[in-house]
Amino acid sequence: MSGFRAILVSREGEKGQKVELTDLTDNDLMEGDVTVRVTHSTVNYKDGLALTGSAPVIRRWPLIPGIDFTGEVEASDHADFKPGDAVILNGWGVGEAHHGGFAEKARVSGDWLIHRPASLSGKDAMAIGTAGYTAALCVLALTDHGLTPDNGPVVVTGAAGGVGSTATALLAKLGFHVIASTGRASEEAYLKDLGAAEIIARDELSGAARPLGKERWAGGVDSVGSHTLANVLSMTKYGGVVAACGLAQGMDLPATVAPFILRGVTLAGIDSVMAPKDKRARAYDLLTEHLDRAAFDAITTTIPLDDVPAAGADIIAGKVRGRTVVEIG
Ligand code: NDP
Repeated sequence: MSGFRAILVSREGEKGQKVELTDLTDNDLMEGDVTVRVTHSTVNYKDGLALTGSAPVIRRWPLIPGIDFTGEVEASDHADFKPGDAVILNGWGVGEAHHGGFAEKARVSGDWLIHRPASLSGKDAMAIGTAGYTAALCVLALTDHGLTPDNGPVVVTGAAGGVGSTATALLAKLGFHVIASTGRASEEAYLKDLGAAEIIARDELSGAARPLGKERWAGGVDSVGSHTLANVLSMTKYGGVVAACGLAQGMDLPATVAPFILRGVTLAGIDSVMAPKDKRARAYDLLTEHLDRAAFDAITTTIPLDDVPAAGADIIAGKVRGRTVVEIG
């Protein structure tokens, strides 16, 4: 039986929690038919919620958080995987109800794993992470709806965040005129480097929305929710489409049906956690083909496992720019 290091979140009192870096053994791993030597993970917004306890993300205690990981298969009883295979895991309730990626080892169902594309290193895969793969799902929702650069500009909200940065980079690479909305004026140069054509202040979209506003964009990727999504919808051109994936401003949607029934606007909901494998494969194809790896490298910060709790607090405080990769192996 071999030991491994892990971040463990345990219940303290009735509602509190404690987060510690601890040593575990294979006996502590959960059920699954593939055991993976984790080399990299990443800190997503949801991981921040789990690590700080600011939302009930963790549904089984004690738990190793971390909704993403990549690494090498150590042992497998699953037909699709053999020892030595490089794999990626995004979602499926890992880091919520099943031990996750903030550990040197993980055991999961092989049905949840995908093979890591040969062109992606472990660091690349986690720089993408759930945030990047969700951004790709959002972009696919727009293009599947028929949106092209000829239809007009697209808006990305929460643009300097993980989902927003990747969506901005992908849409720009596909030829869209990207309007990036951010609350951090200091990130203007960063967003322009990613390909944003225009920057607008978060405040322009964060107040109460009118039922219909001036038509400003043909579509959008929204990682913010609440009034921001209501404003994005109200300013979407006739026949446009908005992909909604996040709730950084709030879970509510104080909007009217006016954009839907008067402008034929489509609101596409995006879930990355339970997305089927074929959708995941399309998202990774889009990412490997169109993501500028060098630009993406520049937006990635690497931290050791020990720094994960602090990084979780920072992402919830809105202090994180781009992506945080956890180097484990
Ligand atoms: P980040 O924290 O990296 O990015 C969120 C961004 O939202 C921030 O960088 C900030 O961007 C903006 N923001 C933060 N607080 C507010 C606020 N109060 N009002 C308006 N804007 C705000 O998180 P991620 O990119 O990883 O995730 C973004 C959202 O998407 C989260 O809500 C997350 O839970 C959700 N998500 C959903 C998934 C799904 O499957 N549906 C999968 C992955 C993420 P800026 O500074 O540029 O304004």
